[in-house]
Amino acid sequence: MILKTSKEILREITLCDHCLGRQFGKISISTNERRGKVIRNLLNCLNPELSTNFNKQKPCFLCDNIFERAEDIVKNISPDFEFFTFHAGTKIPEEIMKKEEMLKEKYGLQYQESIKQELNRELGKDIGAIIGKEFKREKEDVTILLHPYDSKVEYVINPLFIYGRYNKLVRGIPQTKWFCTRCKGRGCAKCGNTGKMYDVSVEELISELFLKETKGADSSFHGAGREDIDVLMLGNGRPFVLEIKSPKIRDIDLQKLELEVNQINEGKVRISGLCFVEKEIVEKIKNTHMRKTYLAEIDVCLTEEEKRKIEEFFLDRDIYQETPNRVVHRRADKTRIRKVYKVLTSKENCSSLEIYCDGGLYIKELISGDEGRTNPSIAELLGKNIKCVLLNVISIEEKV
Ligand SMILES: [Zn+2]
Ligand SMILES: [Zn+2]
Repeated sequence: MILKTSKEILREITLCDHCLGRQFGKISISTNERRGKVIRNLLNCLNPELSTNFNKQKPCFLCDNIFERAEDIVKNISPDFEFFTFHAGTKIPEEIMKKEEMLKEKYGLQYQESIKQELNRELGKDIGAIIGKEFKREKEDVTILLHPYDSKVEYVINPLFIYGRYNKLVRGIPQTKWFCTRCKGRGCAKCGNTGKMYDVSVEELISELFLKETKGADSSFHGAGREDIDVLMLGNGRPFVLEIKSPKIRDIDLQKLELEVNQINEGKVRISGLCFVEKEIVEKIKNTHMRKTYLAEIDVCLTEEEKRKIEEFFLDRDIYQETPNRVVHRRADKTRIRKVYKVLTSKENCSSLEIYCDGGLYIKELISGDEGRTNPSIAELLGKNIKCVLLNVISIEEKV
């Protein structure tokens, strides 16, 4: 069957051993080249009059003898960035894929392997040997995309992900870059041509040095939730992942950078516990609601009776919270249920509350009631207007 089909094909077109063998590639485990050779030898032996012998002077109908040039193709790889693991692929011209498809249909070649698969395999072997880096099927540092037919090489450098925790020690700066609401970042009179609502952000204060050190193209900051601009982030800090896009240097000294970032931003932002992580951690820290502890200052002086009432009532209490009035214009309006585990009042002063609760609970609204949108609330419990005047996050649960 193989011989009969091969004979028919080779009567019409020229194929190299690789391409001949590949038409039956899924039949046996031998290499395509070897299989092609065996078929050709057999045909020549059984049909000496037919002279199906492959003439090396003639280019192969399918691949244009690309396999003879494999070594040269791989020599085009000359990356100017640091990496340790790679994945390789090839870009095959459309017309070659079409020819292959045509052949498959015409001769009913159900065991045909595609030229792309064989080239990936053959070139991949050489690449590893030549560049001396580790081949990885996933989570590789870089994807090397060879264009064998026009001596081009494309590199897709995968991002670097760095986990850590941050403290925000001053009020008035947002967590991430906040584009000007009028010009959306282009720069206008409202924002003094900065394109931003605020001069700096936690994101920028942290990422600047990392971008410099890695020679990255850009960065993204992923926080485990965020505090309001006027809220401090104290205690053990808030988990974040800094994503550096297209880094040219990957092997950076995190301890050294942590020190430098903390020196430059003294009194503003502090980072700790840095380590390299995989991409999955980003989703994880964004989607797990970690328990939080807040310290709130309110605008009334609580009586001993009111303190007792608050502590007794807010024990493992479910809070029904519609999206607060102040953010509903930019966030979906929905009702969420979050737990308050306990609220501690202070012996020394009458306007401090320590609140232990689920992440994602809006504390200012837990205090004020937000015109009935948060239920129950401290204001409702005491039957009076109460506002939060100062808020700090003092602890975020450790586990990620
Ligand atoms: Zn060929
Ligand atoms: Zn603007």
